[in-house]
Amino acid sequence: MNLTELNLTELRTALRQGKTSSVAATQAMLDRIVEQDNEIKSYLTVTDEMALEQAAEADKRIANGEESPLLGVPIAVKDIIAAKGAPTTAGSKILEGFIPPYDAFVVERLKEAGAVILGKTNTDEFAMGSSTENSGYFTTHNPWDLTRVPGGSSGGSAAAVAAKMAYAALGTDTGGSVRQPASFCGVVGLRPTYGRISRWGVVAFASSLDQVGMFGRTVADTTALFQAATGYDRRDSTSLDVPVEDFEVALTGDIKGLRVGVPAEYFIEGIEAEVETAVRAAIAQLEKLGAEIRPISLPHTRYALPVYYLIAPAEASANLARYDGVRYGPRVEGADMIASVKQTRALFGPEVKRRIMLGTYALSAGYYDAYYGRALKVRTLIKNDFKAAFQQVDVIACPTCPTTAFKIGERADDPLNMYLADIFTLSLNLSAGCGLSVPCGFDSKGLPIGLQLIGDTLQEATILNTAYAYEQTIERRKQLPDNGKL
Ligand code: GLN
Repeated sequence: MNLTELNLTELRTALRQGKTSSVAATQAMLDRIVEQDNEIKSYLTVTDEMALEQAAEADKRIANGEESPLLGVPIAVKDIIAAKGAPTTAGSKILEGFIPPYDAFVVERLKEAGAVILGKTNTDEFAMGSSTENSGYFTTHNPWDLTRVPGGSSGGSAAAVAAKMAYAALGTDTGGSVRQPASFCGVVGLRPTYGRISRWGVVAFASSLDQVGMFGRTVADTTALFQAATGYDRRDSTSLDVPVEDFEVALTGDIKGLRVGVPAEYFIEGIEAEVETAVRAAIAQLEKLGAEIRPISLPHTRYALPVYYLIAPAEASANLARYDGVRYGPRVEGADMIASVKQTRALFGPEVKRRIMLGTYALSAGYYDAYYGRALKVRTLIKNDFKAAFQQVDVIACPTCPTTAFKIGERADDPLNMYLADIFTLSLNLSAGCGLSVPCGFDSKGLPIGLQLIGDTLQEATILNTAYAYEQTIERRKQLPDNGKL
């Protein structure tokens, strides 16, 4: 049995049937990492010893007849999420060597479900970026074309799943950081409703937008991870205390009568022609499956980018005040306390410094009302756009990104151009819904394209089932890089 070729769902069955063991699957992933990751560079830390111990434990639980949902399944975790005993750097030098003494809620949940943690994946520093080029350590390469970015900020997790170095992975999505890299790497990426997954133990970037999300090779794989990760947590005051339905059972593939909205504002000038063609073809496919396609409008879409780049940096400037060399991570000693704090904070990379300055400015007395206050008002208008749209439709379908993966270095010195990579994903974070990206084809360079499906608050079951129905119409194996080299 070629263990790296199995997806999560297939592995789960093989484990239950005793056809393989968690130790064997974990070892297969670790071998694959040794083989591939010196080029792709998706992992910041591989926790091989801990992983094999967890796998041996899972094998015992399987032998005892336990049927926990992720029992024995090896996964990867974005390095912005705390995992006990493993370094958690958030991709930043300011947290180099920081080992959290506890697991994030989501890691705790996945461990309880029996998952094996292979390691921590690369990210743009504090999740600020769209390419992993802002990581304080190194850039991750796209498994489809090593000269290109995997997207970001959860680029390490997306690349690890695409290159079969994990069966699934966790990321975070504050403005698109799960959906955009999923699109660039040809995997499925889900951004659940804000509050669906506790942020306890997740390094804060912009607290009103941050949400843990997940990557899988297929919709079913992604759903399995989501199912295990969601649930109420009293330690996060924004955690939603709502019933958790059976999302796996909801994957029926039946979307007859589903009302799918296509927003005019997401097919704009600047979008690559091949992306538009592929996304429109995917929408036509949904129609063939029985969905009813309707044109809709989200009129305030064009304000999403400026609003996001006021709110996110404002919240970040407050959240990142805690890195002072006293509480976490390294400390650079200066002549006095002020000098120590200053020199320690010089460990932040240029993008993080830019955001702290932007955010501090937007929040400062005299500018607060003009910038931050106004951004909050426009955020409400964007939320209302979605509310109105979901009166008419069940799901919104559009591109995840205007382009396919760009070259490493191409946008690195051009922050505005980099920010445009998230133009279609940001609005969702500013509203209250959920969204995902599912592969829907390739451009002429062989790079993956993503279809974004957006749902109303807590409507994950609907978007996952829509993606599942669509996915059944495409050949899944072709959706992962397999060019002989990988
Ligand atoms: N790329 C966006 C940013 O740089 C979104 C990041 C994210 O979702 N974490 O802020």
